[in-house]
This record gives sequence, structure tokens and C-alpha cells, in this order.
Amino acid sequence: MERNNTSRRRFLRNLGLAGLSVPLISSGINCANEKKTNPQTMINGNKKAGKLGIALLGLGGYAGGQLAPALQSTEHCYLAGIVTGTPSKIPAWQSKYSIPGNNVYNYETFDKIKDNADIDIVYIVTPNALHKDFVIRAAQAGKHVICEKPMALSVEDCDEMIAACKKAGKLLSIGYRLHFEPHNLEMMRLGTKKIYGNIKKIGAGFGFTIGDPTQWRLKKALSGGGPLQDVGIYCVQGICYTTGLEPIAVTAQEGPKTDPDKFREVEQSLTWQFEMPGGIIAEGKSSYGQGMNFLKAEAEKGIFELTPAYNYSGQAGRTPEGTMNFPKINQQAKQMDAFALSIRNNQLSIVPGELGKRDVKIIAAIYEAMGTGKRITIN
Ligand code: NDP
Repeated sequence: MERNNTSRRRFLRNLGLAGLSVPLISSGINCANEKKTNPQTMINGNKKAGKLGIALLGLGGYAGGQLAPALQSTEHCYLAGIVTGTPSKIPAWQSKYSIPGNNVYNYETFDKIKDNADIDIVYIVTPNALHKDFVIRAAQAGKHVICEKPMALSVEDCDEMIAACKKAGKLLSIGYRLHFEPHNLEMMRLGTKKIYGNIKKIGAGFGFTIGDPTQWRLKKALSGGGPLQDVGIYCVQGICYTTGLEPIAVTAQEGPKTDPDKFREVEQSLTWQFEMPGGIIAEGKSSYGQGMNFLKAEAEKGIFELTPAYNYSGQAGRTPEGTMNFPKINQQAKQMDAFALSIRNNQLSIVPGELGKRDVKIIAAIYEAMGTGKRITIN
């Protein structure tokens, strides 16, 4: 946790938010008020155990496959409700996770969640383009919010989301699970503490072969772009958190479209080069046509790296001293528990909206560089 706090302070400093770290929520907002319970949740005993209630919004692959199971092992929050546009999903979710009927919403009734004291946090797990409106609606309903990555499709949208949460006196967090994963935390430590001297070069790549050609990830209006938005964002993150630095400028190149029908609206692959402070060479790549999963730092006194780096589990790392050896953890459970504790302690999230906005800004610069063929500065 100390490592988390250190990296958190570093990010806050980078984001110019260090002064906001404690307390973030105005003193007028009293967490104790949020402990209200209703008889329904007293029955399953979770509120009695002092946990914050999370409602998952958008019951797709990630919510069902990772987040709901993770919420079975969280210490400080639990799965209290669901918000879905697909009525047929409701019975299975209710019975599997003992969700009472009055904690089930659809996208039309969602705003009524403001009257539900069981729900403290809404976790937005929809296609990327829908994050903004749901985050704003959740904040306006008086709920803390976790928003999946990428936070939004434009910096302006991020600003609106941050402003809405601030206005409501609610915390905003981004689903950056790797900030809670020991191997990635070790990359942060090794890089930022210069354990092997200054980093000279860093490379990151994340790609996979995408299936269903009709899915929203291939539709620009819903995704905002291809693999860069989906998985390349992890490489942007990895480069920044391992070096503790942010890029100054970028050049980028789109890869060939070997399946032009599938990739009519978004890139199939791309590579980019960041100019980092101190002359560090940083290269990223991302693809929907090729598997890759690595984060590799070349420092003065040797190489430290992860491969795979970004999966839900199974990270493997190597330093000049040998293989990394860290316990298996549930990233999503750690991430959600950390946010629940931030709320409890009136502190900024370890992965706040401002961090999501930073990455949206960098991604926009990469796309601009790719589209224009020019070097784009990032301020
Ligand atoms: P899915 O397509 O599997 O699920 C998205 C869900 O959003 C749908 O099942 C649906 O739920 C809801 N939805 C609402 N409107 C739409 C719409 N117009 N089209 C499609 N779905 C809609 O996506 P994922 O779960 O894989 O991804 C969701 C978000 O989570 C994305 O932002 C993605 O980037 C992020 N993600 C993050 C991961 C991480 O490791 N942090 C991993 C995977 C995804 P319903 O039927 O209940 O309305």
C-alpha cells in the first residue's frame, strides 16, 4: 500500500493535484451519511459489515466475467445493484449475486438510483463513447463513480465528467487495475527509483486478434478508435508509470490493413514513438491483428521487463537479478477496495479522473500524429 501511496503522490504531482490529495471531498459531505441502510441490505448483511455498495452499469463481458466475481472477494465494497439495457440478463444476475429487485435499474430508470441508499458507487462498464453521459448522470444522482478505460473520447468530455463529479462532491476513479498489480507496481518502483540507473529506452506492446466483425470495438462512434483505445492505452500507461514521466511529443504510423472489411472504421494496428524528458526513447505498439503483451525497460544497469504485462493474471517479470516473484492477487478486487477506502478516507482516488484525462490527451496526440504524419507536441 505504501508503494501505491508513493505512486499516487507522484501522479498527483504530475497532474498538478498534489494539493488536493487530502481531503478531496468538501467537509460538507459526510461519509457517515452514506452508511444509511435499508432493511433489504441489512438482510444480506453487507451494509451491516460496513461495505460500500457498488452498482455495475453495463452487464457485458468485463462486468460479468471479471468485476462481479471480483466483488465476491472485496473487503470494503460489494455488488449491491445492476443497471442494464437488457432485461433478459436480470434474473441470472439477481439469483447469482442475491441482488434485490429494488436495486435493479435500466438506462431509463437509472437516475432514480439517487434515492437508493444501498448504492454508494456506480461502475460504468459500457462501450467507450457512452462513459461520459453515464458518469455525469451517476454524479448527478449523488454517487461516486468508477469509469472504465478509456475514460472518454475527448479531453473536453473528460473535463465535463470531472466537473460533474466535483460539483456533486463525489469521487471519480478510472478502471486502471494494473496500478494494483504487484509486477506492474514493481516496474514503477524499479523505474522511478532508478534501481538500475536511468532508463535509456522503454518499449510497450499490447495486441490480440479480434474476433466478431460486428462488435462495437470496431465501430468508431462507440469505441473512438481501434486497438490504441482498447489495449494500447495500457502501453501509454506502462511507459508513463515505469518512467514516472509524461511524453513531450509523439510521432506515429498506422500499420497495414490486412482485413480492410473488418477495419473500415478503425486502425488495425499502429506504432508510435514518444519523446520523453531526459532523452528516453519510448516506443509503443498495439494491434487487433497480432498477439503481443510486454513492457520492457532498458536502464543503465540492465533490463527489467514484464511479459505478459497486462493480463488479468499471470504476469511474469524479470530483472538483472532474476525472475520477479509476487503473490497472485485479484486486480479488480484490489482496485475497487482501494477506491472504497479513498471514499471512506475522503481522499482522491489512486487512479483519478485526471489520470484518465491525461491518457485521453496522449491518445488524441497519437492519433493526430498518425493521421498527419507529423510530430505532435503534447502539452
Ligand atoms: P461488452 O460489449 O462485453 O459489454 C458492454 C455492455 O455495455 C453491454 O453488454 C451492454 O450491457 C452495455 N451497453 C450499453 N449500450 C450499449 C451499446 N450501444 N452497445 C453495446 N453495449 C452496450 O464490452 P466490455 O465489457 O468488454 O467493455 C466495456 C468497457 O469496459 C469498455 O469501456 C472497455 O474498454 C472496458 N474494459 C476494461 C477492461 C479492463 O481490464 N479494465 C477489460 C475489458 C473491457 P447491458 O446489456 O447490460 O445493457
